[in-house]
Amino acid sequence: MASAEPLIFSVQHFCLHDGPGVRSIVFFKGCPLRCGWCQNVESWKARAEIAFKAHLCINCGTCAAKCPAKAITTAGKRDARLCKGCFTCTDNCPSGALTRFGFSKSVDEIASELRPEFSLFASSGGGVTFSGGEPTLFPEFTACLAEKLRAEGIDVVLETCGHFNREQTKPLLRQLRTILFDIKLCDEESHMLLCGSGNTVIKDNLHALAADHAEAGGALVWPRLPFIPGVTDTVENLRGWAEFLAARNISYLTVVPYHPMGNNKRLWLGLPAAQDFRVPSAAELGAAEQLFSAYGIRVYRPGEEPWQEYCRKSEKSALGPATY
Ligand code: SF4
Ligand code: SF4
Repeated sequence: MASAEPLIFSVQHFCLHDGPGVRSIVFFKGCPLRCGWCQNVESWKARAEIAFKAHLCINCGTCAAKCPAKAITTAGKRDARLCKGCFTCTDNCPSGALTRFGFSKSVDEIASELRPEFSLFASSGGGVTFSGGEPTLFPEFTACLAEKLRAEGIDVVLETCGHFNREQTKPLLRQLRTILFDIKLCDEESHMLLCGSGNTVIKDNLHALAADHAEAGGALVWPRLPFIPGVTDTVENLRGWAEFLAARNISYLTVVPYHPMGNNKRLWLGLPAAQDFRVPSAAELGAAEQLFSAYGIRVYRPGEEPWQEYCRKSEKSALGPATY
């Protein structure tokens, strides 16, 4: 488990694709997986990081001049062995070429930042989504933040890779009406190879949360499949997930088509370039829809999910009826 105090790398506002209504998304730093197609690589490490965006650099020399450890000799060249992680360089870079990913924020600070949007959440049936990275790496903090938001009438959604300790995460799970649950490779060995970890814990959690929803009024568990041609869209993988979901009476999922928009971040962070994945075609997405449909599973795209319909089916929720 990562440290108890998380770092936040972004708070995005007015989002429509990550749960019901208009939402703000709080992105936590730190993830137990390393999926090759990840578009949020700045979320991987739990600690703060420095990114260098060469196209913004104006070669002013401020970073080298201000660095107390003499770790920067010339713009973009930072000796990680000398760097003390003081962030003087990012604080003083005038152009934004040097950027810090990861800031410490308290529960109260996050709630205060989001409070101006509370009325919009209420009128749109939205709320706050915890994402990342993996928010469950910080079970106490996220439970505390969720409790604070819930106390002010704000709905909280968790977006998770599913790789978490269920026992430790229970206080957070109790605050949720909806969980967006990522599913990737159904085969354990492929998951290990392409995501950097096995999927036994993930499948076990998905199974347990689905049962908790069906039997005890737990949160609605909504699977989301990143759709990567040649990787997650094989007939074998789709069939594997369709059988897994149908066996647990889950009749819906969202497919999230691959897009390469976050690839520059790898360059900024000094990570190796991503494998050359491609955007799926309409025909490929259509074929997947047909396959799932044969198992009685409806496929949605992000932002198209009929939350109201499924929420009515969740009236047993421990949190009472939803407003969306
Ligand atoms: S974080 Fe501090 S020590 Fe490291 S390169 Fe920047 S200014 Fe130098
Ligand atoms: S301070 Fe920023 S803009 Fe100036 S040389 Fe360093 S990275 Fe480039």
